[in-house]
Amino acid sequence: MSLSATVNRIKPSATIAAAAKARELKSKGVNVHDFTLGEPDFNTPEHICEAAVAAMKAGHTHYTASGGIVELKKAICDAYQRDYGLKYDPAQVIVSSGAKHSIHNVITTLVGPGDEVIIPAPYWVSYSDLVEIAGATPVLVNTTRESGWTLSPGQLEAAITPRSKLLMLNNPCNPTGAAYPVETLEGLAKVAVNRNLMVLSDEIYEKLIYPPARFRCFATFGDDVRARTILVSGVSKAYAMTGWRIGWTIGPVEIIKGMDKLQSQETSNPCSISQYAAIAALNGPQDCIEDMRKEFEKRRAYVLDRLKRIPGVKLAEPGGAFYAFFDVTSSFGKPLMNGRVVQNATDFCTALLEEAHVALVTGDAFGAPGYVRLSFATSIKALEAGFNQIEKFLAG
Ligand code: PMP
Ligand code: GLU
Repeated sequence: MSLSATVNRIKPSATIAAAAKARELKSKGVNVHDFTLGEPDFNTPEHICEAAVAAMKAGHTHYTASGGIVELKKAICDAYQRDYGLKYDPAQVIVSSGAKHSIHNVITTLVGPGDEVIIPAPYWVSYSDLVEIAGATPVLVNTTRESGWTLSPGQLEAAITPRSKLLMLNNPCNPTGAAYPVETLEGLAKVAVNRNLMVLSDEIYEKLIYPPARFRCFATFGDDVRARTILVSGVSKAYAMTGWRIGWTIGPVEIIKGMDKLQSQETSNPCSISQYAAIAALNGPQDCIEDMRKEFEKRRAYVLDRLKRIPGVKLAEPGGAFYAFFDVTSSFGKPLMNGRVVQNATDFCTALLEEAHVALVTGDAFGAPGYVRLSFATSIKALEAGFNQIEKFLAG
């Protein structure tokens, strides 16, 4: 049987594949130290779960409007007003089945064959494939560890061609944890306005910031910037709600309408019960976010301390999200645990899993050869055991 050209062209999600590989080994009884998936290990806060139960009991178990219920759209608008002083109307909001779905629908609505989408690398695994699904061309622009993995306004300017339509910005960034400084964002915003570029700002990690880093929403740089900004975020990371599958997009009404049309044909609507749970998350007490952020901050400090003690490891400290992204090239070509020798990050991850039972994600999947990603969305106890194994692996 022959499959479509689109499906043949794309790769499976490397993060999901790495997690599946770790899970498979676990099912064989191996004690795997799994730092692959970027998802909070906390349970969804109780008051949010209770709202979901209440929604079911109240009969909210039917199809909803394809772009989400208006009460949730209003709760999203209220949250942006409260958090960033941004006034949006529910007509500028659409709810999708997770932020990944939001991104997919933004891309499908905006670009197609002949269009270029600028993506700073390292980038989250799904960005380039989602652009390719739409038939458009991803244009990767490499950033450096020395720059804190941020795209400079000059780099953006240089990457723009007459076919450029969209910049995909991820702040804070998966996999690097880079939290963009305000001046850099402002510079990028100016270039976008001057060169008539739309900006998809994926801010799913907006609440997970570690001072002195600070978060600034891309739509806050004035009306001209806001007019070309498409914000994507959701409840997955901030409220530990990855399984509920609720993400949203805020942007120009024309784009939102286009996405709504698309969504009406592809998924009908995001899960009704999850939408009510998301209202409780946004309108309810917000201290659960800070409680979890503080815990991630402790884990981040622990991970940085352990990484600093490993000779040859290089990284830019993450200002946000829950990933450590580090260079492992100094271990290439040397005998590691059980005599294993590796020459690239993908082989490094394979050998590390097979010999030391530690699962990381290769930087090759994020457009960053020589690097690996460790998710610290897991307990310090689990991190400690994993780092002990990583040290043994590297010692040979
Ligand atoms: N953007 C980034 C940068 C992510 O890391 C992820 C993965 N969690 C998403 C979007 C998608 O989030 P969701 O689980 O809500 O689909
Ligand atoms: N975004 C998370 C990660 O990067 C979850 C998996 C995925 O959706 O790719 O690990």
